[in-house]
Amino acid sequence: MKPAPFAYAAPRSLDEALALLAEHGDEAQIIAGGQSLVPMLALRMATPGILVDINRIAGLPGLLEDDAALTVGPCVRHAELLRHAGRHRHWSLIAAAVREVAHPGIRNRGTLCGSIALADPAAEAPAYALALDAEIVLSSLSGERRVPARKFFRGVYETARAPDEMITAVTFPRPAPGWRFGFQEIARRHGDYAIAGLCAGLRLEAGRITEVELVYFGIADRPMRAPQAERSLLGEPNADAVKEAAAAAGAELEVEGTGESSAALKRQLMRVLTERVLTKLIVGAPGQ
Ligand SMILES: Cc1cc2nc3c(=O)[nH]c(=O)nc-3n(C[C@H](O)[C@H](O)[C@H](O)COP(=O)(O)OP(=O)(O)OC[C@H]3O[C@@H](n4cnc5c(N)ncnc54)[C@H](O)[C@@H]3O)c2cc1C
Repeated sequence: MKPAPFAYAAPRSLDEALALLAEHGDEAQIIAGGQSLVPMLALRMATPGILVDINRIAGLPGLLEDDAALTVGPCVRHAELLRHAGRHRHWSLIAAAVREVAHPGIRNRGTLCGSIALADPAAEAPAYALALDAEIVLSSLSGERRVPARKFFRGVYETARAPDEMITAVTFPRPAPGWRFGFQEIARRHGDYAIAGLCAGLRLEAGRITEVELVYFGIADRPMRAPQAERSLLGEPNADAVKEAAAAAGAELEVEGTGESSAALKRQLMRVLTERVLTKLIVGAPGQ
């Protein structure tokens, strides 16, 4: 199938891009890496009136890190983010997750902001953005607003972004001392979207777990935290608490089957992932 006809604009400034979004509303669609949008156009799952190509805009934020945060601009490719995160221990979660995004060719073109905008529930980026308490920076002609990841994802391909807004950055606060992170997903083949995955973080202070983030993806219409499972891990790190958390996560969340993967299978995978990731995380923790 060929894409339906569409107009194409390649603005040179952010204001020009935002004016196009304001003028065309729902009819306009941004193209960044095109790794999701181009197949959707070809299948006529997306039929925009106009594509707004953001790749030639001068002065957009790139990839920038200071003591407080990592900022990732709208044309930063997964591959560039992986190179950066792979060099810094505090971004080990990002590095582990981005390694599982598709294949090198797709990571060389696809962007973090595009993945966040798309909000595929089986994608890695929305999950690690939630686990790391990221903020999504949205720009329109009326100004800029920042939405925490926990409020941004609303359902399958649904977000808090309005049609006249562009994601101009995603910012990740640098994790405080004591945090350690783990990541695993289960997919049919390496590079496929996950059937189920887990981004986990624990904060250890004086030998006790004081904060926990468990974010599951691929199991519902958006990435989900599991508060009861998180609470069961607080205190002394121990194997019984890990087992309790693994059982609690599958029980407390509304899990939805997709394609050939039933909800029961996904619950089982959540249990397996929780035990594997947390066991690895608490090995070597003080008191173990
Ligand atoms: C074979 C294959 C396998 C893949 N496997 C995975 C995988 O395992 N995990 C995974 O996470 N992804 C996977 N992807 C998708 C890939 O990660 C994409 O790069 C990503 O989802 C979207 O990034 P993009 O820059 O290509 O966005 P585009 O395709 O350009 O755009 C995607 C959507 O986001 C919107 N958009 C893009 N940028 C912005 C912005 N700055 N502001 C507002 N809206 C914006 C577009 O309008 C469009 O609706 C796969 C893709 C392919 C083709």
